[in-house]
Amino acid sequence: MANASKLIQEIERRSPEDLRQQCRFTRIKEQMSDEERSSIERAEESVKMDTGNGRTRTYSARWLSNVLTKCGYPISDSTILRHINGRCGCE
Ligand SMILES: [Zn+2]
Repeated sequence: MANASKLIQEIERRSPEDLRQQCRFTRIKEQMSDEERSSIERAEESVKMDTGNGRTRTYSARWLSNVLTKCGYPISDSTILRHINGRCGCE
């Protein structure tokens, strides 16, 4: 019985918040000032809107990851891409 209730506790402790853990991109944005964050959000939109492919892209996840990494927020382009495509845990 003691084991059974421990099991229940373990299961119930897993809240929806745990399941929807925010990705590194969002957590990085939370460390920024409001001004920086809105600038990153504009960049994010630009990446989303840029319809070019490969070298014809002006704004890419790779570009954004380079900018962020250079400014002391190391992040991979695949993490950014996952977030932009809505395949991360955010929202
Ligand atoms: Zn995300």
